[in-house]
Amino acid sequence: MRDDFKISYSRVNAYLFCPYKYKLLYLENVYIPLFANITFGHIIHKTLERFHTNKEQCFDTLIECYNNSWKNDGFSDPQQVFEYYKRGKQMLEVYYRSSYESKSKVLYVEKAFDTNIGKYKFVGVIDRIDQYKDGTHEVVDYKTHVIVWEQEKVDKDLQLSFYAYACKNVFGFEPDKISMYFLSDNKKIYTKRTQEEISNAIDIAVKTAENIAAEKFDPDTSKCQICDFKLKCKYSQYKLENL
Ligand code: SF4
Repeated sequence: MRDDFKISYSRVNAYLFCPYKYKLLYLENVYIPLFANITFGHIIHKTLERFHTNKEQCFDTLIECYNNSWKNDGFSDPQQVFEYYKRGKQMLEVYYRSSYESKSKVLYVEKAFDTNIGKYKFVGVIDRIDQYKDGTHEVVDYKTHVIVWEQEKVDKDLQLSFYAYACKNVFGFEPDKISMYFLSDNKKIYTKRTQEEISNAIDIAVKTAENIAAEKFDPDTSKCQICDFKLKCKYSQYKLENL
């Protein structure tokens, strides 16, 4: 393992999906082709980061941030670019209108943390942290895909548990609210994390880091059908069955 190794949600997520996927992605630097949904998610995150760090907070500024963040990588053709651009603009219009009704103010966007868990460096970036007039905080994670998750899935989300840990142990406050903001539907799903749930999540991160350090990268072929590397991986069950 390299000296500069840092565990993060993305790394844990890749390893839990399939240890061999982690190896391909992070050790062998195998490239994942960009898809429209991935590029679109990056564009919207960048747009909101630029907007909330801008002095001007009018709708024209939001659209200017959107246009400046736009890139065509990953879209299949001009028609798809047009459709996604239109969808993003409508999404941002609703976002802007609803931000007027918000009782909190945006305190941080793309807030990075860099800490230690056990003997490992642990890093991440929180999409947004809001503060209410009474001093309480809300951690917000944006999602740009169309499907709104069920409450149970949000309650079990590992990334939000990591965010809760970072707020408490790095930034020094308990998040009073944790939300997943599904921008396509302008819907927030709220959740909470107990100390036990946070500790369990950190145990998973440490265990994953230990497995990576021990170079345990056995393939999990039960996920090949939905894996980004299903056409490139030498263990791919999908290739065996379909090609
Ligand atoms: S194709 Fe299958 S074995 Fe290969 S990385 Fe993906 S999930 Fe793992």
